[in-house]
Amino acid sequence: MMNQSHYHCPKCQKSLTKDKKVVLHFRREEGDDWNEIFLNPEPGNYNFYTVPDTSFENGEHVLFCCPKCDADLTSKKDPKFVELKMKVNDFIFFDALFSSVFGDKRTYIITEEDIDVYGDASYEDIPFPDMSIGEVPY
Ligand SMILES: [Zn+2]
Repeated sequence: MMNQSHYHCPKCQKSLTKDKKVVLHFRREEGDDWNEIFLNPEPGNYNFYTVPDTSFENGEHVLFCCPKCDADLTSKKDPKFVELKMKVNDFIFFDALFSSVFGDKRTYIITEEDIDVYGDASYEDIPFPDMSIGEVPY
């Protein structure tokens, strides 16, 4: 596994990494304000903190946007996931998806030919039906 993961906005491509954390803006569904959230860059590590401190409810859907360009980071593959670009090198980016439902600890990294699962995610329940893995068309 990559020792230091860097994430970028899929829209503006700017780095979202600051002080070894992934910085995003988030809003609770019933809230008006966008606030800052600092996520651990290690896939499957759900330690985070917010400014100001927020206590989320289990099962609560949280909205995320890019702090640089305000782009909605909701994945087009599944609206309950956030999608970022994970930088491997200057030429290769993977799609990094994590659940935006609090308490749902599923992270998927979509590489060139595979999906890596982290946290509570498993290969049996990959929620992106348009991603066919290991299927070779004959
Ligand atoms: Zn952006």
